[in-house]
Amino acid sequence: ASKLRQGLTRTRQQLGKQLSGLFSGRKIDEELYEELETALLTADTGIEATNQLLESLRMRVKRDALDNSEQLKSALQDALAELLHPLERTLAPAVEDQPFVIMIAGVNGVGKTTTIGKLAHYFQAQGHSVLLAAGDTFRAAAQEQLKVWGERNQITVISQDSDPGKKSDPAAVIFDAVNAAIARKIDIVLADTAGRLTTQLHLMEEIKKIKRVITKALPDAPHEVLLVLDANTGQNAVSQLKAFDSALGVTGLVMTKLDGTAKGGVIAAIAAQFADNPPALRFIGVGEGLNDLRPFNAQEFAAALFD
Ligand code: GDP
Repeated sequence: ASKLRQGLTRTRQQLGKQLSGLFSGRKIDEELYEELETALLTADTGIEATNQLLESLRMRVKRDALDNSEQLKSALQDALAELLHPLERTLAPAVEDQPFVIMIAGVNGVGKTTTIGKLAHYFQAQGHSVLLAAGDTFRAAAQEQLKVWGERNQITVISQDSDPGKKSDPAAVIFDAVNAAIARKIDIVLADTAGRLTTQLHLMEEIKKIKRVITKALPDAPHEVLLVLDANTGQNAVSQLKAFDSALGVTGLVMTKLDGTAKGGVIAAIAAQFADNPPALRFIGVGEGLNDLRPFNAQEFAAALFD
Protein backbone atom coordinates (compact mmCIF):
# COMPACT_ATOMS: atom_id res chain seq x y z
CA ALA A 1 0.00 0.00 0.00
CA SER A 2 2.90 2.37 0.62
CA LYS A 3 4.10 1.64 -2.92
CA LEU A 4 0.69 2.71 -4.14
CA ARG A 5 0.90 5.80 -1.99
CA GLN A 6 4.27 6.58 -3.51
CA GLY A 7 2.89 6.02 -7.02
CA LEU A 8 0.13 8.51 -6.41
CA THR A 9 2.52 11.18 -5.17
CA ARG A 10 1.74 13.80 -7.78
CA THR A 11 -2.01 13.53 -7.50
CA ARG A 12 -1.68 13.50 -3.76
CA GLN A 13 0.54 16.56 -3.81
CA GLN A 14 -1.76 18.42 -6.12
CA LEU A 15 -4.76 17.66 -3.99
CA GLY A 16 -2.74 17.60 -0.82
CA LYS A 17 -1.12 20.97 -1.38
CA GLN A 18 -4.52 22.52 -1.35
CA LEU A 19 -6.13 20.12 1.06
CA SER A 20 -3.48 20.22 3.74
CA GLY A 21 -4.23 23.88 4.32
CA LEU A 22 -7.91 23.06 4.30
CA PHE A 23 -7.61 20.20 6.70
CA SER A 24 -5.49 21.80 9.33
CA GLY A 25 -7.50 23.24 12.12
CA ARG A 26 -10.00 25.13 9.98
CA LYS A 27 -13.62 25.72 10.71
CA ILE A 28 -16.01 23.85 8.46
CA ASP A 29 -17.68 26.67 6.57
CA GLU A 30 -18.75 27.67 3.04
CA GLU A 31 -15.32 29.02 2.26
CA LEU A 32 -13.81 25.66 3.09
CA TYR A 33 -16.23 23.86 0.79
CA GLU A 34 -15.41 26.30 -1.99
CA GLU A 35 -11.70 25.71 -1.68
CA LEU A 36 -12.32 22.01 -1.62
CA GLU A 37 -14.31 22.30 -4.83
CA THR A 38 -11.45 24.10 -6.57
CA ALA A 39 -8.93 21.52 -5.38
CA LEU A 40 -11.04 18.64 -6.70
CA LEU A 41 -11.66 20.31 -10.06
CA THR A 42 -7.95 20.98 -10.49
CA ALA A 43 -7.26 17.25 -10.12
CA ASP A 44 -9.63 16.65 -13.08
CA THR A 45 -12.35 15.19 -10.95
CA GLY A 46 -14.93 16.87 -13.18
CA ILE A 47 -18.03 18.77 -12.22
CA GLU A 48 -20.37 15.82 -11.65
CA ALA A 49 -18.04 13.90 -9.37
CA THR A 50 -17.01 17.05 -7.52
CA ASN A 51 -20.62 17.99 -6.84
CA GLN A 52 -21.42 14.47 -5.78
CA LEU A 53 -18.46 14.34 -3.41
CA LEU A 54 -19.28 17.68 -1.85
CA GLU A 55 -22.92 16.74 -1.43
CA SER A 56 -21.99 13.48 0.22
CA LEU A 57 -19.56 15.37 2.42
CA ARG A 58 -22.18 17.88 3.55
CA MET A 59 -24.53 15.02 4.35
CA ARG A 60 -21.88 13.34 6.47
CA VAL A 61 -20.98 16.54 8.27
CA LYS A 62 -24.62 17.00 9.20
CA ARG A 63 -25.40 13.38 9.99
CA ASP A 64 -22.34 12.82 12.16
CA ALA A 65 -22.14 16.37 13.50
CA LEU A 66 -18.53 16.70 12.33
CA ASP A 67 -16.93 19.83 13.64
CA ASN A 68 -13.26 19.71 12.72
CA SER A 69 -11.26 19.49 9.56
CA GLU A 70 -9.54 16.21 10.51
CA GLN A 71 -12.96 14.56 10.58
CA LEU A 72 -13.81 16.28 7.32
CA LYS A 73 -10.74 14.77 5.70
CA SER A 74 -11.65 11.25 6.68
CA ALA A 75 -15.25 11.89 5.62
CA LEU A 76 -14.02 12.98 2.19
CA GLN A 77 -11.89 9.87 1.96
CA ASP A 78 -14.95 7.74 2.76
CA ALA A 79 -17.07 9.64 0.25
CA LEU A 80 -14.46 9.08 -2.46
CA ALA A 81 -14.13 5.37 -1.66
CA GLU A 82 -17.91 5.03 -1.85
CA LEU A 83 -18.07 6.84 -5.20
CA LEU A 84 -15.30 4.65 -6.64
CA HIS A 85 -16.51 1.37 -5.22
CA PRO A 86 -18.73 0.39 -8.20
CA LEU A 87 -15.60 0.45 -10.41
CA GLU A 88 -13.88 -2.17 -8.30
CA ARG A 89 -14.30 -5.50 -10.09
CA THR A 90 -11.19 -7.65 -10.32
CA LEU A 91 -10.44 -9.53 -13.52
CA ALA A 92 -10.42 -13.25 -12.78
CA PRO A 93 -9.89 -15.11 -16.06
CA ALA A 94 -11.92 -18.29 -16.38
CA VAL A 95 -9.08 -20.38 -17.75
CA GLU A 96 -11.30 -23.41 -18.24
CA ASP A 97 -12.35 -21.41 -21.31
CA GLN A 98 -8.84 -22.13 -22.53
CA PRO A 99 -7.71 -19.86 -23.91
CA PHE A 100 -9.23 -16.87 -22.14
CA VAL A 101 -8.80 -14.14 -24.74
CA ILE A 102 -8.21 -10.57 -23.65
CA MET A 103 -8.38 -7.99 -26.42
CA ILE A 104 -6.48 -4.84 -25.51
CA ALA A 105 -7.45 -1.53 -27.07
CA GLY A 106 -6.50 2.10 -26.69
CA VAL A 107 -4.97 4.94 -28.68
CA ASN A 108 -1.22 5.15 -29.23
CA GLY A 109 0.88 6.34 -26.36
CA VAL A 110 -1.51 5.48 -23.54
CA GLY A 111 0.76 2.67 -22.35
CA LYS A 112 -0.82 -0.29 -24.12
CA THR A 113 2.36 -2.21 -24.88
CA THR A 114 3.79 -1.62 -21.42
CA THR A 115 0.52 -2.73 -19.87
CA ILE A 116 0.55 -5.94 -21.92
CA GLY A 117 3.99 -6.77 -20.51
CA LYS A 118 2.81 -6.08 -16.98
CA LEU A 119 -0.35 -8.13 -17.49
CA ALA A 120 1.62 -11.08 -18.84
CA HIS A 121 3.85 -10.88 -15.79
CA TYR A 122 0.84 -10.64 -13.47
CA PHE A 123 -0.91 -13.67 -14.95
CA GLN A 124 2.28 -15.71 -15.09
CA ALA A 125 2.82 -15.01 -11.41
CA GLN A 126 -0.65 -16.51 -10.84
CA GLY A 127 0.53 -19.67 -12.54
CA HIS A 128 -1.17 -19.13 -15.91
CA SER A 129 0.44 -19.70 -19.28
CA VAL A 130 0.29 -16.65 -21.52
CA LEU A 131 0.64 -15.96 -25.25
CA LEU A 132 0.93 -12.53 -26.80
CA ALA A 133 -0.49 -11.46 -30.13
CA ALA A 134 1.33 -8.47 -31.61
CA GLY A 135 -1.69 -7.02 -33.35
CA ASP A 136 -0.39 -3.46 -33.55
CA THR A 137 1.14 -4.20 -36.94
CA PHE A 138 1.32 -0.55 -37.92
CA ARG A 139 3.83 0.26 -35.30
CA ALA A 140 6.93 -1.81 -35.93
CA ALA A 141 8.39 -0.58 -32.67
CA ALA A 142 5.44 -1.96 -30.72
CA GLN A 143 5.93 -5.41 -32.23
CA GLU A 144 9.65 -5.27 -31.66
CA GLN A 145 9.07 -4.17 -28.06
CA LEU A 146 6.72 -7.08 -27.45
CA LYS A 147 9.05 -9.60 -29.08
CA VAL A 148 12.08 -8.55 -27.07
CA TRP A 149 10.01 -8.59 -23.96
CA GLY A 150 8.53 -11.98 -24.74
CA GLU A 151 11.94 -13.51 -25.33
CA ARG A 152 13.23 -12.22 -22.06
CA ASN A 153 10.27 -13.70 -20.22
CA GLN A 154 9.90 -16.94 -22.18
CA ILE A 155 6.54 -15.97 -23.54
CA THR A 156 5.56 -16.79 -27.11
CA VAL A 157 4.76 -13.72 -29.16
CA ILE A 158 2.87 -14.26 -32.39
CA SER A 159 3.64 -11.44 -34.77
CA GLN A 160 3.41 -10.70 -38.43
CA ASP A 161 6.90 -11.82 -39.33
CA SER A 162 6.29 -15.17 -37.66
CA ASP A 163 5.06 -15.71 -41.21
CA PRO A 164 6.99 -13.33 -43.46
CA GLY A 165 4.95 -14.22 -46.54
CA LYS A 166 1.88 -12.60 -45.08
CA LYS A 167 0.75 -9.05 -45.59
CA SER A 168 0.44 -6.84 -42.57
CA ASP A 169 -3.01 -7.59 -41.31
CA PRO A 170 -3.58 -7.25 -37.59
CA ALA A 171 -6.72 -9.38 -37.71
CA ALA A 172 -4.77 -12.22 -39.34
CA VAL A 173 -2.02 -12.04 -36.71
CA ILE A 174 -4.55 -12.26 -33.92
CA PHE A 175 -6.48 -15.05 -35.64
CA ASP A 176 -3.25 -17.06 -35.86
CA ALA A 177 -2.42 -16.28 -32.25
CA VAL A 178 -5.76 -17.55 -30.95
CA ASN A 179 -5.38 -20.74 -32.97
CA ALA A 180 -1.83 -21.21 -31.72
CA ALA A 181 -3.07 -20.80 -28.15
CA ILE A 182 -5.81 -23.37 -28.69
CA ALA A 183 -3.31 -25.85 -30.15
CA ARG A 184 -0.81 -25.28 -27.33
CA LYS A 185 -3.42 -25.25 -24.56
CA ILE A 186 -2.40 -21.81 -23.39
CA ASP A 187 -4.50 -20.26 -20.59
CA ILE A 188 -4.53 -16.62 -21.61
CA VAL A 189 -4.08 -14.70 -24.87
CA LEU A 190 -3.25 -11.01 -24.65
CA ALA A 191 -4.09 -9.47 -28.01
CA ASP A 192 -2.60 -6.08 -28.77
CA THR A 193 -4.47 -3.97 -31.32
CA ALA A 194 -3.65 -0.90 -33.37
CA GLY A 195 -4.01 2.45 -31.72
CA ARG A 196 -2.93 4.68 -34.53
CA LEU A 197 -5.49 7.41 -34.81
CA THR A 198 -5.60 8.43 -38.47
CA THR A 199 -9.25 9.04 -38.23
CA GLN A 200 -11.22 7.75 -35.34
CA LEU A 201 -13.71 6.15 -37.70
CA HIS A 202 -10.96 4.22 -39.44
CA LEU A 203 -9.49 3.00 -36.17
CA MET A 204 -12.89 1.91 -34.90
CA GLU A 205 -13.68 -0.01 -38.09
CA GLU A 206 -10.36 -1.76 -37.87
CA ILE A 207 -10.69 -2.86 -34.27
CA LYS A 208 -14.28 -3.95 -34.81
CA LYS A 209 -12.96 -6.21 -37.53
CA ILE A 210 -10.32 -7.59 -35.16
CA LYS A 211 -13.00 -8.39 -32.63
CA ARG A 212 -15.07 -10.22 -35.24
CA VAL A 213 -12.07 -12.25 -36.32
CA ILE A 214 -11.30 -13.24 -32.72
CA THR A 215 -14.88 -14.51 -32.40
CA LYS A 216 -14.43 -16.44 -35.62
CA ALA A 217 -11.38 -18.18 -34.18
CA LEU A 218 -13.10 -18.95 -30.87
CA PRO A 219 -16.87 -18.42 -30.52
CA ASP A 220 -16.99 -17.01 -26.96
CA ALA A 221 -13.94 -14.82 -27.43
CA PRO A 222 -12.88 -12.16 -26.71
CA HIS A 223 -13.78 -12.85 -23.09
CA GLU A 224 -12.56 -9.43 -22.05
CA VAL A 225 -12.23 -6.20 -24.02
CA LEU A 226 -9.80 -4.15 -22.01
CA LEU A 227 -9.44 -0.46 -22.77
CA VAL A 228 -6.22 1.25 -21.71
CA LEU A 229 -6.56 4.91 -20.76
CA ASP A 230 -3.87 7.41 -19.79
CA ALA A 231 -4.68 9.37 -16.63
CA ASN A 232 -2.76 12.35 -18.04
CA THR A 233 -5.42 12.87 -20.66
CA GLY A 234 -7.85 13.77 -17.89
CA GLN A 235 -11.35 14.35 -19.18
CA ASN A 236 -10.29 13.11 -22.63
CA ALA A 237 -10.20 9.62 -21.15
CA VAL A 238 -13.96 9.90 -20.69
CA SER A 239 -14.54 10.52 -24.40
CA GLN A 240 -12.17 7.71 -25.37
CA LEU A 241 -14.16 5.36 -23.18
CA LYS A 242 -17.40 6.41 -24.87
CA ALA A 243 -15.99 5.96 -28.38
CA PHE A 244 -14.39 2.56 -27.76
CA ASP A 245 -17.36 1.30 -25.79
CA SER A 246 -19.81 2.05 -28.54
CA ALA A 247 -17.59 0.34 -31.11
CA LEU A 248 -16.49 -2.69 -29.10
CA GLY A 249 -18.40 -3.07 -25.88
CA VAL A 250 -15.62 -2.43 -23.37
CA THR A 251 -15.70 -4.86 -20.43
CA GLY A 252 -12.78 -3.52 -18.44
CA LEU A 253 -10.43 -0.57 -18.04
CA VAL A 254 -6.81 0.00 -17.18
CA MET A 255 -5.88 3.51 -16.07
CA THR A 256 -2.15 4.06 -16.62
CA LYS A 257 0.38 6.65 -15.50
CA LEU A 258 -1.36 7.57 -12.29
CA ASP A 259 2.11 8.05 -10.85
CA GLY A 260 3.08 10.78 -13.27
CA THR A 261 -0.02 12.90 -13.15
CA ALA A 262 -1.89 15.30 -10.97
CA LYS A 263 -5.09 14.31 -12.73
CA GLY A 264 -5.89 11.18 -10.75
CA GLY A 265 -9.33 12.63 -10.12
CA VAL A 266 -10.33 11.39 -13.57
CA ILE A 267 -11.21 8.04 -12.02
CA ALA A 268 -13.85 9.77 -9.91
CA ALA A 269 -15.07 11.56 -13.05
CA ILE A 270 -15.59 8.19 -14.74
CA ALA A 271 -17.38 6.79 -11.70
CA ALA A 272 -19.79 9.74 -11.64
CA GLN A 273 -20.40 9.98 -15.38
CA PHE A 274 -21.04 6.30 -15.85
CA ALA A 275 -22.90 5.80 -12.58
CA ASP A 276 -25.80 4.08 -14.38
CA ASN A 277 -23.55 1.48 -15.88
CA PRO A 278 -20.16 1.69 -14.18
CA PRO A 279 -17.25 0.19 -16.10
CA ALA A 280 -14.95 -2.26 -14.31
CA LEU A 281 -11.63 -0.60 -13.57
CA ARG A 282 -9.53 -3.75 -13.57
CA PHE A 283 -6.08 -2.29 -13.00
CA ILE A 284 -4.22 0.94 -12.39
CA GLY A 285 -0.70 1.65 -13.62
CA VAL A 286 1.52 3.45 -11.14
CA GLY A 287 4.94 3.21 -12.77
CA GLU A 288 6.97 1.77 -15.63
CA GLY A 289 8.18 -1.36 -13.87
CA LEU A 290 6.65 -4.81 -14.31
CA ASN A 291 5.15 -4.77 -10.85
CA ASP A 292 3.62 -1.33 -11.21
CA LEU A 293 0.21 -2.61 -12.21
CA ARG A 294 -2.28 -3.23 -9.46
CA PRO A 295 -5.82 -4.47 -9.26
CA PHE A 296 -7.95 -1.44 -8.49
CA ASN A 297 -9.21 -1.19 -4.93
CA ALA A 298 -11.38 1.83 -4.12
CA GLN A 299 -10.65 1.91 -0.40
CA GLU A 300 -6.94 1.55 -0.90
CA PHE A 301 -6.90 4.20 -3.63
CA ALA A 302 -8.81 6.75 -1.55
CA ALA A 303 -6.59 6.08 1.44
CA ALA A 304 -3.41 6.46 -0.64
CA LEU A 305 -4.58 9.86 -1.85
CA PHE A 306 -5.34 11.29 1.55
CA ASP A 307 -2.92 9.71 3.96
P1 GDP B 1 1.45 2.45 -26.40
O1 GDP B 1 1.75 3.34 -27.54
O2 GDP B 1 0.04 2.64 -25.93
O3 GDP B 1 1.78 1.02 -26.64
O4 GDP B 1 2.35 2.99 -25.19
P2 GDP B 1 3.68 2.39 -24.53
O5 GDP B 1 3.37 1.12 -23.80
O6 GDP B 1 4.76 2.35 -25.54
O7 GDP B 1 3.95 3.49 -23.40
C1 GDP B 1 4.22 4.82 -23.67
C2 GDP B 1 5.09 5.38 -22.55
O8 GDP B 1 4.36 5.41 -21.33
C3 GDP B 1 6.31 4.54 -22.26
O9 GDP B 1 7.40 5.41 -22.02
C4 GDP B 1 5.97 3.78 -20.98
O10 GDP B 1 7.07 3.44 -20.19
C5 GDP B 1 5.08 4.77 -20.28
N1 GDP B 1 4.14 4.15 -19.31
C6 GDP B 1 3.21 3.21 -19.53
N2 GDP B 1 2.51 2.93 -18.41
C7 GDP B 1 3.01 3.74 -17.44
C8 GDP B 1 2.69 3.96 -16.04
O11 GDP B 1 1.80 3.37 -15.42
N3 GDP B 1 3.44 4.92 -15.41
C9 GDP B 1 4.43 5.63 -16.04
N4 GDP B 1 5.09 6.54 -15.35
N5 GDP B 1 4.71 5.45 -17.33
C10 GDP B 1 4.03 4.52 -18.03
